[in-house]
Amino acid sequence: MFSPNTSALARQGVKDALQIHSENWNEKYLGLPVHVGKSRKKAFAFVKNVISGKVYGWKERLIAKTGKETLVTSVAQAIPTFAMSCFYLTKTFCDELSSLIGNYWWSQQDKEHTTHWIGWNKLTLPKAQGGLGFRDMHAFNVAMLSRQAWRLIQHPYSLCAHILKAKYYPDGRLLEAQSAAGISYAWRSLLHGAQLVREGYIWRIGDGADVNIWTDPWIPRSWSRTVITPRGQCLLQRVSELIDPFSASWDEQLVRDTFWPDDVVHILRIPLREGAQDFMAWQYDTKGAHSVKSAYKLYVQLEKTRKDGGVGASSTIPGNLHSIADDSWKRIWKLPCPRNIQMFTWRLKHESLALRTTVARRGIPIEDTKCLFCSRGEEDGAHLFIKCKLAKEVWRDLALEKERSDL
Ligand SMILES: [Zn+2]
Repeated sequence: MFSPNTSALARQGVKDALQIHSENWNEKYLGLPVHVGKSRKKAFAFVKNVISGKVYGWKERLIAKTGKETLVTSVAQAIPTFAMSCFYLTKTFCDELSSLIGNYWWSQQDKEHTTHWIGWNKLTLPKAQGGLGFRDMHAFNVAMLSRQAWRLIQHPYSLCAHILKAKYYPDGRLLEAQSAAGISYAWRSLLHGAQLVREGYIWRIGDGADVNIWTDPWIPRSWSRTVITPRGQCLLQRVSELIDPFSASWDEQLVRDTFWPDDVVHILRIPLREGAQDFMAWQYDTKGAHSVKSAYKLYVQLEKTRKDGGVGASSTIPGNLHSIADDSWKRIWKLPCPRNIQMFTWRLKHESLALRTTVARRGIPIEDTKCLFCSRGEEDGAHLFIKCKLAKEVWRDLALEKERSDL
């Protein structure tokens, strides 16, 4: 019950107050480790064991690819959910889980490594973007933790919030809490979630007393939630100082004198609610409510922007988290044919069927990449299914020549 550095005196004091006569150490509580030691890997090994036990327990050969997809999305990925909602499982560990599931997905036989024809990072894309909608475990982990942080902010009077606040953020500003040596692993995990909340929340203005004009995000604008006007020598500090107390509306002249035009436009559009308190809202929801789903999308997008070197770093517009122009992927999943044919078409479009050119591209030595039938073209998807003489004959026999030439 106590952490190892609690003095005997303190232990006794707490035990007396709570009338606990004997202490009973359990390694786990509600299925989660009570004490996460130095090795995260060891502490969370049980998650991995459960997944690999489950997925490899399924009768491999009896399950087609399509069935495996269901098992991955609704069973294997769901196993670590509970642990992920409380603890930061680390990126490395999440990647291991992903590769475990990926191996399962691609394996044809029990516990045998096979080629991953399409990378995991593509499988985790939404179906409309060419993926299978598998879960990016690490992003999901952070998104789950952001929900916990959000809850603490929304319910500051809960018992949990009381305790954590007393210990880690006595000033009540959870989002400003910093990581430090000696903090508990649960709290350290939660800080990862808080980090994501910082990227996605926005202040909704009531009387403006709680919001700092210059540092807090309060401008409902897609590319920057904070004011872009430099502070300079300006003495104004709180948003409340921009509100005319008599009319309870924006002091338009002051706003115009203080800010750059783009800030002015957005500020004057913010509706004011007289006498109401400022509150934190989640920017990616019309009602301001946080959801794991939108936090997940936000995290994925932030990661992508980070990898792309910050280009379009601020393009995280509410409605913009999922805008795709190309609907060709979607059309595959709507084809009026069995699931395995759709899956085949999906792999064909990814150029990831085990054809000669694909195999050669992956660096596997192969004598000849020419078409097996006509030896004229390179054996790739387009040739084998559309351009090859033999393929053409099949299309013709099926009276589908027009469809073929339209492709
Ligand atoms: Zn050919």
